[in-house]
Amino acid sequence: MDRVTESPSPQPSPALRERGPGSPDATAASPLPLAGEADGRTNLVGLDRAELAAELATLGQPAFRARQLWHWIYHRGVSDFAEMTTLSKEFRARLTEHYVVARPAVARALQSADGTRKWLVRLPDGQEVESVHIPEEDRGTLCVSSQVGCTLTCRFCHTGTQKLVRNLSAAEIVGQVMLARDALGEWPSPPDGRLLSNIVMMGMGEPLYNFDNVAKALKIVMDGEGISISKRRITLSTAGVVPMIRRCGAELGVNLAISLHAVTDELRDQLVPINRKYPIAELMEACRTYPGLSNARRITFEYVMLKDVNDSPAEARALVKLLEGVPAKVNLIPFNPWPGAPFERSTDAAIARFSQIVFDAGYASPVRTPRGEDIMAACGQLKSASIRKRASERLAEAASA
Ligand code: SAH
Repeated sequence: MDRVTESPSPQPSPALRERGPGSPDATAASPLPLAGEADGRTNLVGLDRAELAAELATLGQPAFRARQLWHWIYHRGVSDFAEMTTLSKEFRARLTEHYVVARPAVARALQSADGTRKWLVRLPDGQEVESVHIPEEDRGTLCVSSQVGCTLTCRFCHTGTQKLVRNLSAAEIVGQVMLARDALGEWPSPPDGRLLSNIVMMGMGEPLYNFDNVAKALKIVMDGEGISISKRRITLSTAGVVPMIRRCGAELGVNLAISLHAVTDELRDQLVPINRKYPIAELMEACRTYPGLSNARRITFEYVMLKDVNDSPAEARALVKLLEGVPAKVNLIPFNPWPGAPFERSTDAAIARFSQIVFDAGYASPVRTPRGEDIMAACGQLKSASIRKRASERLAEAASA
């Protein structure tokens, strides 16, 4: 445990307090607003450009004001209207009266020995999700959640054991990116060399079951006059909601990752139960027709390595067959254990053998190094602490009954 540093969470959120040098808000004296402190004011975060303009029109403001505000909110990361110095004092005062620029609160911030950071994010209604920042040499990736819990019940996934679920709003999804930027001290949006350069929709939840809010949020994140992370640096991961895959490609054009994990319907029905609704053949057809694919732009197939369950050489060969005709790369994910999980991680030898077969067939097949394991931030380990606690309380009650 000594490798883990934890900052307990006073209000307002530590991420908002611990702004790095160079952040325009670092010395903001007024308390920053937190979404959820419902005081009747409307949060401007999460509105698209048209909605923002419509809001300002109600204050009698011309359309170009929306563009100015957009710049302050999403390019400069400013939360306090008083600091928006290109706006008149009077207008700033009126904005303060009616609106806030609020991110969700950070209930807990953890940092792994390997530099991975995890934020337990508290939403206005008290629900919690997790976001994870994974620094690498050439990039920094933020893993963003799309739902509280998940309805999919994939057998190997910790989040899937968490029943409680609701969709996140666009504001709550964009808010995760903004609070990560706050904590990394990365405002205004740097042109390059960013600590937060890439986004993966691979946190808690199934993003294609919350497509409207995810799409709205990602369009805000991609906007070149704001946070400005390009669609080429965004990857959306789905367990295979086939009817939504096409829309995702057409409306967002982001990179696609598919949680495949098995090569027969028989096994995939068990591991990823949504397969019973959208079996492998339909899933692969949706992949084959995903817009914009080329050798330079491939679909990532994620494959969790479960000991003696899906890790044989025969399955590696069947995987290669399945991928025929799809510009693909394979991402092998050694199973990340969690308390009570009914699986074990494949041996290194089994993973190496599997990877070699896929590689020899012409597909990149990197093994994903588990990151942030010491803070339960690795793939499939995310689960709100509040739910964990409730579960452990239930166990304690059961034990004493
Ligand atoms: N709902 C999305 C995002 C899931 S998380 C989806 O299903 O794609 C990102 C990846 O981690 C998915 O491929 C998921 O199947 C995988 N995963 C889940 N639990 C895991 C675990 N315990 N170990 C390794 N990978 C896991």
